[in-house]
Amino acid sequence: MKCPFCGNELKKGILYGDGRSKVHWNEGDNKLPMLEELAGKGTLSAAKYSLTIFTIDSYYCDGCKRMIIETKIEK
Ligand SMILES: [Zn+2]
Repeated sequence: MKCPFCGNELKKGILYGDGRSKVHWNEGDNKLPMLEELAGKGTLSAAKYSLTIFTIDSYYCDGCKRMIIETKIEK
């Protein structure tokens, strides 16, 4: 896959981290309110969880230092 910004070949990899809390996304600069997080809002469909880790398939561009993730955000 080519980077849509600079045309370099993207490197496929995984984002990963401690899976004890879910990965969320929220528009703007602030986290979601705790109650909305608990209700599942803002979670990424791309994040896969096990007991101790989460992973997200992603594509990294070494040219322009951007990352592309294919995901849906739960509303
Ligand atoms: Zn690029």
